[in-house]
Amino acid sequence: MPPARRRRTAPRVEVLRLGHRAARDPRLTTHLALTARAWGAERLYLHPPDTELAARLGRVNGRWGGSFEVIGVKDWRPIVREHTGHVVHLTMYGIPLTEALPAMLEQPYLLAVVGGAKVPAAMYEMSDWNVAVGHQPHSEVAALSVLLDRIRGTPGPGAWPGATHAIVPSARGKRVVEMPAP
Ligand code: SAM
Repeated sequence: MPPARRRRTAPRVEVLRLGHRAARDPRLTTHLALTARAWGAERLYLHPPDTELAARLGRVNGRWGGSFEVIGVKDWRPIVREHTGHVVHLTMYGIPLTEALPAMLEQPYLLAVVGGAKVPAAMYEMSDWNVAVGHQPHSEVAALSVLLDRIRGTPGPGAWPGATHAIVPSARGKRVVEMPAP
């Protein structure tokens, strides 16, 4: 759904993922990172760090391009406190996304925060907006993808800078082309 009011340029977005459990969540957090990357976020701050996951996303860039990065952080508070833009924390307890969206679209730069099993109470105080994507529990991946779609829109086809491969949209089957070497 196109936003009602939008700056000429979509806000730049970074993502912070709290409470990653390397032993239990590698697949879920990988999907979160892929979602952030695919919708044009610049980086994912991952708390606590997971070097394997960061390397996995690096390999995705190697094939499909772009400069998305995963940065492991031992302490998430400075990331929130020192962010120079506005902070939107996704939680089912927050205000409806539709209510916060117009003000978010006026911002040049956002930090989107998603939690895991339990989010520290301080996060609710440190954010500019606590925002719900519906008021039922679902998933950090779903919440982030809806937020990024509303803020930045879903990117169309075409190779990203530095990609070695690109998808040619097809009604059936899979078509992938190799990009010429630079
Ligand atoms: N009780 C949590 C909450 O505050 O939303 C649900 C935990 S859920 C397993 C993990 C993360 O998914 C949450 O920290 C939040 O970032 C996101 N999430 C889940 N449901 C959401 C919703 N309806 N709206 C926004 N974010 C949601």
